[in-house]
Amino acid sequence: NFSSQSHEIMKARKYVVVNHFVNEAKPTDLKLVEEELPPLQDGEYLAEAEYFSVDPYMRPYVRRYPLGITMLGTQIAKIVESKNPAFPVNKRIVGNMGWRTHTIVNPKFKDLVFQEHPYLLPDIGDLPSSLCLGILGMPGNTAYFGLLELCKPKSGETIVVSGAAGAIGSHVGQIAKNLGLNVIGICGSDEKCNWLIEEMGFDFAINYKTMPVASNLRKAAPQGVDCYFDNVGGDISSAVMYQMKPFGRVAVCGSISSYDADSSSLPKCTILQPILSKHELRVEGFLVTRWMNRWNEGIMQNLQWLREGKLRYRETETKGFENMFEAFIGMLRGENIGKAIVQA
Ligand code: NDP
Repeated sequence: NFSSQSHEIMKARKYVVVNHFVNEAKPTDLKLVEEELPPLQDGEYLAEAEYFSVDPYMRPYVRRYPLGITMLGTQIAKIVESKNPAFPVNKRIVGNMGWRTHTIVNPKFKDLVFQEHPYLLPDIGDLPSSLCLGILGMPGNTAYFGLLELCKPKSGETIVVSGAAGAIGSHVGQIAKNLGLNVIGICGSDEKCNWLIEEMGFDFAINYKTMPVASNLRKAAPQGVDCYFDNVGGDISSAVMYQMKPFGRVAVCGSISSYDADSSSLPKCTILQPILSKHELRVEGFLVTRWMNRWNEGIMQNLQWLREGKLRYRETETKGFENMFEAFIGMLRGENIGKAIVQA
């Protein structure tokens, strides 16, 4: 128990990036190492990881940083020792400290990805703290702001969501359903399609691995599509955009279908300009950090919807820090339903 034995030498385990990912990430691109942590200085606190998030952005972002960094990633951690009254022992934080079991956080710490200091877990009562990596965290805010601010959905309209059975997609579809839209999801298995319809309230689901997207979409939305929340890019997205109504709105959240490609191997995709001008579509990309000044609003709204039974969630949980890579690659390959997390 470190909190009562702070004089003991503390060891942290962490994954260091030793090769930038090329095509599909390999376990040997990361190295698990042990590090001795020094005693705390004034203002510092020691955080022990409880849950880790594995997210798609980790795949393309890593190459922006030099080799030798700790693998990027957000975690929920419990403060086990503190010399900072604003971050007392036993409180939990959400922060992008990376794939490491223990972290000494000093007051000036800002993470590499978001350039933010960790924040204290919001008061979510007896809900699991891991939700702050998903529906009550960054992915939840991505769904909330991306959908409402960019798609501007209206009751009676039709929305298509790609990556529909993942953390963000399943959340977007539920908000849209609550607003009275006709919701069509695109995802990669029959199990996911069934889950979207039976549990998440989607109206129609297309398994892009076994069903042609264009003809099935025409069946599901014969009048055309008003909004598209795009998590995947590539040909799936081209097929959707060609079926959009005049003045349709597209929120480009991510393009996971291209994350394993480098610039020389990017897949060719259908030219989009004709439909953009013909139907006067509005296509806008975004980063959720655009709404950093409204972060708490998103979390509190999603929390309220969760408590009212208007939002449901699912987590695909992997156990054990030693299984981080398997969880990461599994998520990229589509093995997750809902949010992919790792319990430390
Ligand atoms: P998910 O939980 O959706 O997990 C990723 C899913 O992507 C997999 O489960 C898999 O499901 C699907 N996928 C993988 N490869 C492909 C492919 N080639 N074509 C189609 N689908 C594929 O992840 P998140 O909800 O966390 O993220 C969803 C998207 O949002 C990502 O693109 C991510 O980069 C983006 N994002 C953007 C943010 C922003 O600020 N703009 C913030 C956070 C995330 P399947 O079985 O259906 O293939």
